[in-house]
Amino acid sequence: METTRRQWLVWGAGTMAGAAGVSGCAHAPTPAASLAQGFFRQKLGNAHVVAVSDGVGRRPLAEGFVRNAPLAQVQAALAAQGLPTDYIDVPYTCFVLEVDGKRYLLDTGFADNGPPGTGLLHTHMRAAGIDPASIDAVVLSHLHGDHINGLRRKDGSLLYPQAQLYVPAPEYAFWMDAARRDAAPEAARGGFLAVQRVFQGYPAQQLRLFEPGTTVVGGIESIAAFGHSPGHTALALGSGNERFTFLADTAHFPALFVRNPDWQVQFDMDPAQARATRHALLARMAREGGLVGGFHFPLPSLGRIRKDGEGYRWIPQA
Ligand SMILES: [Zn+2]
Repeated sequence: METTRRQWLVWGAGTMAGAAGVSGCAHAPTPAASLAQGFFRQKLGNAHVVAVSDGVGRRPLAEGFVRNAPLAQVQAALAAQGLPTDYIDVPYTCFVLEVDGKRYLLDTGFADNGPPGTGLLHTHMRAAGIDPASIDAVVLSHLHGDHINGLRRKDGSLLYPQAQLYVPAPEYAFWMDAARRDAAPEAARGGFLAVQRVFQGYPAQQLRLFEPGTTVVGGIESIAAFGHSPGHTALALGSGNERFTFLADTAHFPALFVRNPDWQVQFDMDPAQARATRHALLARMAREGGLVGGFHFPLPSLGRIRKDGEGYRWIPQA
């Protein structure tokens, strides 16, 4: 009886902790089990970093995905790492930082606006013991569709109506410029329309612009990482070995662009600037030795960067 009662109390406490939105340590799954549930949780000093997948989109691999390398060379790089060579399963991974009782979401995925296999962020957040309604603030790296569509559903409703929203100022200025949008070639119009869909009518009192290089909120530092887009920004928390840097799209799919920092993904808007930024940030990550995550890094989506020959290697966290 005594054992049963104590057991019940333990379960009860775990359930209540879960209901209150506190990370349910009593029921924390093993890392392997958590990956199958779409997330990976890592302690970082007094904080937690939680990689949460919005899903994976399969993209047939074609000439031009890497602008400046022939398809055969790209396929050889994938094959050398044991990956399929006729398609890429592109992961979309957001991060939740839990700091001092607050939760900060970095980038948002697609919600119900994306391709098949995406829109799973909230399912996976709940599996990680995170109630989406408990997000205090959303911080964006840049305004490409896969990073912002998850702010607003197809029906127009907001997914984080209570949360503050932090956006890199140069990114916002670029995409919200109506004259630039109207002058954009047809092929580039979609990016502007995606930004417009999400941000037109966004509650002004919740929107905060920040300058890359400044501290954003909750001790989260921003690092100018321009090139992939005009105001593309990396985000970091903590120091030394207990530092986490979110590279966002600086090195896109790691098997290609961490290994070969000279390679330019077709989505890099200023390819030369993006390449210089990639080299600088990967060198810095290897030097600092902290945890590194990327939006298109496969789960666990965080690990360490090591120098390897002309390029680098991303070592996923075990
Ligand atoms: Zn992206």
